[in-house]
Amino acid sequence: MTDHINSSNFSPSTLTTTPFTEDDKFHDECGVFGVFNTPEASTHTVLGLHALQHRGQEAAGIVSYYEGQFYAHKSTGHVADNFNTKSVIESLPGNSAIGHVRYSTAGGSGLRNIQPLFADLASGGFAVAHNGNLTNALTLKKHLVAKGAIFQSTSDSEVIIHLIATSTYLTLQDKFIDAMRRIEGAFAFVALSEDCLIGARDPLGVRPLVLGKLPNDGYIFASETCALDIIGADFIRDVDPGEVITINKNGMTSIKPFPIMHPRPCIFEHVYFSRPDSLSNGTSIYKVRKNIGKELAKECKLNADLVVPVPDSGVPAAIGYAQEAGIPFELGIIRNHYVGRTFIEPSDTIRHLGVKLKHNANRGELDGKIVVLVDDSIVRGTTSVKIVDMVRQAGAKEVHLYIASPPTTDPCFYGVDTPDKDKLLASRMSIKEMAEYIGADSLKFISIDGLYRAVGEANRDNKKPQYCDACFSGEYPTPLTDNNASDDDKQFSLLTDYKK
Ligand code: AMP
Repeated sequence: MTDHINSSNFSPSTLTTTPFTEDDKFHDECGVFGVFNTPEASTHTVLGLHALQHRGQEAAGIVSYYEGQFYAHKSTGHVADNFNTKSVIESLPGNSAIGHVRYSTAGGSGLRNIQPLFADLASGGFAVAHNGNLTNALTLKKHLVAKGAIFQSTSDSEVIIHLIATSTYLTLQDKFIDAMRRIEGAFAFVALSEDCLIGARDPLGVRPLVLGKLPNDGYIFASETCALDIIGADFIRDVDPGEVITINKNGMTSIKPFPIMHPRPCIFEHVYFSRPDSLSNGTSIYKVRKNIGKELAKECKLNADLVVPVPDSGVPAAIGYAQEAGIPFELGIIRNHYVGRTFIEPSDTIRHLGVKLKHNANRGELDGKIVVLVDDSIVRGTTSVKIVDMVRQAGAKEVHLYIASPPTTDPCFYGVDTPDKDKLLASRMSIKEMAEYIGADSLKFISIDGLYRAVGEANRDNKKPQYCDACFSGEYPTPLTDNNASDDDKQFSLLTDYKK
């Protein structure tokens, strides 16, 4: 399913031809990319999005700009499957472009939610791509709709377009900042107008955004540095929390329009979400993950025969654990790379099947052994139950499951797609109960201070936590306006779901 519009009059109504699905609701867990002032901007964007594919596999989109016109191509599915022909690339001409990959959620979403979103504003065409989640989007939407705004998607990100369109400030940059001041939650934006590319990060810097440069003076924004590496761009620096960078033909300007706040970048990016070859604040994610394993080994010692990672997400932490503990590391589980992430599967039944499809025991390595299995996190516990059983069935004498993050007790409202609290295993059970449920001989989690040590802090500053760790602590660094809204307001949000 593709929607391909070669016009500056990028009418959102053409996106509504897709039937709306039952689960068509706010879900954003994504990657963003933007490039300015380089020939073949769309080719760079395709490559950048390909490197960011792990951040979202449901859909991808690119909007480019060339001589007075915007061009768009959006599609469900992977970047490599949908942006792979000369004709698609040629349909996205120009020296500037932005792109977006969107995470898969149960049931999927319609084409109308695929980003970048586009609007013809009074100031001209404007496209925006968003990573994160706005925690007051429904509340703002209710006000905007009451004033006559007609929303075309159920994406929280569309709110920003309406706020910009109705802002009384004069320049696009000021309108954008005005809009940013009214939204709450987590956001990393890249936006494209006729003459500039904007990159902006929320005041707490919850979601990542980096700035890069091509040898020919072209500038890049991307969710992660791995998207710079793929096109040979130099990493300049992270976009600062609360910073708005505008790039136009005269160069780059940076402003910080928000009161300076104590930053709270997402710690789960280090644990799971970012690619290990990316840098976060100049630090290698891979090294941090190995450090987590080392800290885990210091906290939880065991006289085991083998350390085995749950691939791929448990691999760096397992290497760190094995090095610190002096225990041999072996690939006791082999992953089939042609199956997507377990989370993509829509129902529990299929998710179980997904795990079987995805992993297989490497019997010869496991038979008769005391095994420390290392995974990055336990969410619903589905993966752990299957993997522990698989390793036992393969002959392991004892299976100890060690987790490279603290128990995930609370859902994320900032753009990582976690299930509701009552589905999170650690919110329902004690660690002892979890171990029994999973069938492990023992179950250990790294402590929250251990995790902070792994990212380079002395410990968690409980008065002023250095990261957003709400999924482990339940402490949310912004108001959860929509979540705390009245039932009436929540009812309003349901109306936007277009249930069949
Ligand atoms: P579960 O089977 O629900 O316990 O999920 C745990 C597995 O999913 C772990 O092996 C993680 O690597 C992976 N995981 C953790 N968080 C997420 C997320 N937000 N999206 C996708 N996968 C995740």
